[in-house]
Amino acid sequence: MLVARMAPFTSTIFAEMSALALRTGAINLGQGFPDTDGPASLLADAAANVTGGVNQYPPGVGVPALRIAVAEHQMRFWGLAVDPEHVLVTTGATEAIAAAVLALSGPGDEVVTFQPYYDSYAATVALAGATLRAVQLRPPSFAFDPDELRAAFSPRTRLVLLNTPHNPTGAVFTREQLALVGELAAEHDAVVVTDEVYEHMVYDGAEHVPMATLPGMADRTLTISSAGKTFSVTGWKVGWVHGPPALVGAVRAVKQYLTYVSGAPFQPAIATALGLPGAFYRELAGDLARKRDLLVDGLRAAGFTVHPPRGTYFVVTDVAPLGFDDGAAFCRRLPELVGVAAVPVSVFCADPGLGRTLVRFAFCKRDEVLAEAVSRLAGLRART
Ligand code: PMP
Ligand code: GLN
Repeated sequence: MLVARMAPFTSTIFAEMSALALRTGAINLGQGFPDTDGPASLLADAAANVTGGVNQYPPGVGVPALRIAVAEHQMRFWGLAVDPEHVLVTTGATEAIAAAVLALSGPGDEVVTFQPYYDSYAATVALAGATLRAVQLRPPSFAFDPDELRAAFSPRTRLVLLNTPHNPTGAVFTREQLALVGELAAEHDAVVVTDEVYEHMVYDGAEHVPMATLPGMADRTLTISSAGKTFSVTGWKVGWVHGPPALVGAVRAVKQYLTYVSGAPFQPAIATALGLPGAFYRELAGDLARKRDLLVDGLRAAGFTVHPPRGTYFVVTDVAPLGFDDGAAFCRRLPELVGVAAVPVSVFCADPGLGRTLVRFAFCKRDEVLAEAVSRLAGLRART
């Protein structure tokens, strides 16, 4: 019954691996969600809103307090001047991405992105009936080849779908890399849709550079983020997008028929949380850097080749040294082998041959859970 263009997207790897983890009692380092809740003040504010009657349709564009808070956040952290009128609240970053792609591309249009990519990108481009042009990010640095990027652009390029810090590789795009993306987008009069949901998760002195801060780019960039990662509330699904009025207006036109509005009691609570002091944001990155080291060391000791990330809460490994030539097969066996779940990177690629032996682990878990996972993974050498 499913329309042909969605046939390749019948199940998501996250659902599949989370179900497997549940069935086998494995520690789930596959799907990226934290195992602790966000700031207590945020939870209390949302609860008070639910019991206090903030439960009916909010304005379609989002509640004013959140639109203002997003604008203030963009100035505070990135020096970006954003008019709250040009902020649209969405049902997570996922809806912002989908609405942007559906609003701005269609059959005959091409969307340039990087692979491996977050899985909703390919599905959304397929929904729009547009064509994906995916440029490969290769280990160990997961940088792109500038010539390959240039070759991916054509007169039909309408959009560039960018993600920095990048899921699943953990790469943080440099200013130089972004400048080339921007230059090519300008040359082809394409819009850049930039997914920056991991904006506060960078390590080792890496710098998150929002695409819209590059000279001239604010005019052709839609910037997307959400509360899920920053405040450890991935189930709330409140995101936002901002950019030039004509582009945001186009996204709003589609968004209003996808979900109409989003998360009434959560929006004002998130508005307040965005104003949390710098210490909150520093601790978030500091904690995650420590967790990354814990998992990276454990994976290395277990025999994986590890490509330590400079951003996000994911780490990509290569399972070839463990004697596996297929990451998907490895992930299907890992829960039963040692009681840990992960996801294969090949499912994030347009060409499944790419990243064949790469496997992604999430480290947004309590220290004791990571320590237990590491001790289980240490048994891998003996078992394989
Ligand atoms: N983009 C990327 C790169 C992600 O990793 C995620 C998290 N799954 C999302 C978007 C989705 O964000 P949200 O839950 O706010 O829809
Ligand atoms: N963003 C998270 C990940 O990459 C969760 C994605 C999802 O469940 N759709 O693991």
